[in-house]
Amino acid sequence: MPMPKFFIAASNIFGGMAYIEGKDAEHLRVLRLKRGEKLIVCDGEGNDYECRLTSSGPEGAEAEIIRVIPSRSEPDVFAQVYAAFPKGDKAETIVQKSVELGASRIVFFRSERCVSRPDAAAIIKKLERWNKISEEAAKQCGRASIPEVGIEQSFETMLEHASQAQLGLFFWEEEHLRSMKKTLEAAGDGITSVSIVTGPEGGFEKHEADTAEKAGLIPVSLGKRILRCETAPLCALAALMYHTNNLE
Ligand code: SAH
Repeated sequence: MPMPKFFIAASNIFGGMAYIEGKDAEHLRVLRLKRGEKLIVCDGEGNDYECRLTSSGPEGAEAEIIRVIPSRSEPDVFAQVYAAFPKGDKAETIVQKSVELGASRIVFFRSERCVSRPDAAAIIKKLERWNKISEEAAKQCGRASIPEVGIEQSFETMLEHASQAQLGLFFWEEEHLRSMKKTLEAAGDGITSVSIVTGPEGGFEKHEADTAEKAGLIPVSLGKRILRCETAPLCALAALMYHTNNLE
């Protein structure tokens, strides 16, 4: 059986010990882990620690750190997915699969043709749920960090943030000249950060693509087929990870 893995706050790891509290400590007891048995503790910032349980009780558990394991599960490209709010539970699919594929952050934003227009209260609830999904996906697939899920206040702030990456890709179904593949090839080796921006069910307006280009993003195509709004970011992310040798 693989060693059980726990994500805990980095501030709970010090002096060669890891302190496990709350629901994680409860989970440890459910697993019936005994003193002396091994577990992995992740600080959510990319560090894994192999530990040996030294005590476990209702108040919490303590584990002694045996060694630091350099994380091999984090990609070496910082990929952020910016997806327009989709309908129904597609956002959950985007979050879960993006985490598995190695995204570092997932951000939702509103664009003109978004059908889904959740109000502030609904967004707070959704963010909570999406971050939980991210945490579960990160644990399941063995990530060393939990990607944050956030939202942008406007299309403009999204562009401002997305354009800060080394490469900002604006996926536009009506772009027929520049492909993602050619754009990545032209960027050469050593791509360190990429923003992937994708639209809603109805696609982007032409003026949105123009504004994006003015903001420094590159409108690119994903090929001749029109992908659904939940397929496009995942396809782009998988292609990016393949191109940057993060699927080896
Ligand atoms: N307007 C389209 C659907 C948009 S697809 C229609 O109904 O005909 C949803 C989003 O996925 C798009 O806004 C775009 O960001 C992305 N996308 C889908 N297929 C794409 C392609 N072939 N090239 C680039 N982006 C694509």
